[in-house]
Amino acid sequence: MAGGKCLALIAHDQKKDDMAEFARRHKEALKNWRIVATGTTGGRVLEAAPELDVTRLKSGPLGGDQQIGALIATGEADALIFFVDPLTPMPHDVDVKALMRLAIVYDIPMALNEATADRLIADLHL
Ligand code: PGA
Repeated sequence: MAGGKCLALIAHDQKKDDMAEFARRHKEALKNWRIVATGTTGGRVLEAAPELDVTRLKSGPLGGDQQIGALIATGEADALIFFVDPLTPMPHDVDVKALMRLAIVYDIPMALNEATADRLIADLHL
């Protein structure tokens, strides 16, 4: 991937609405970044803020989370916003753990909820 800082976005289950609203609210700041997102999340973000530069990867259950993990491992994803839905059972648990682990290994900024994501955007001057 060429040029600019890259932000990875993922939202699980009921958190997709929150991610769409988050993207709409921060669209001015997010215009400065290239965004990669899992398939459905990326679609929702684009609906909410069509002017953003969003690359949609595979849907999470089909490997999209791991595509984002690969981008973290190769240094191409600079930050991660990952809205995990805490009110659903555990089917995404392995994906959550795998991405958290890589974000820690490569020490990139990571937000797992909206309050932290708001601060991350302010802090990174996204
Ligand atoms: P999705 O993938 O954005 O395609 O739904 C995220 C996930 O559910 O893991």
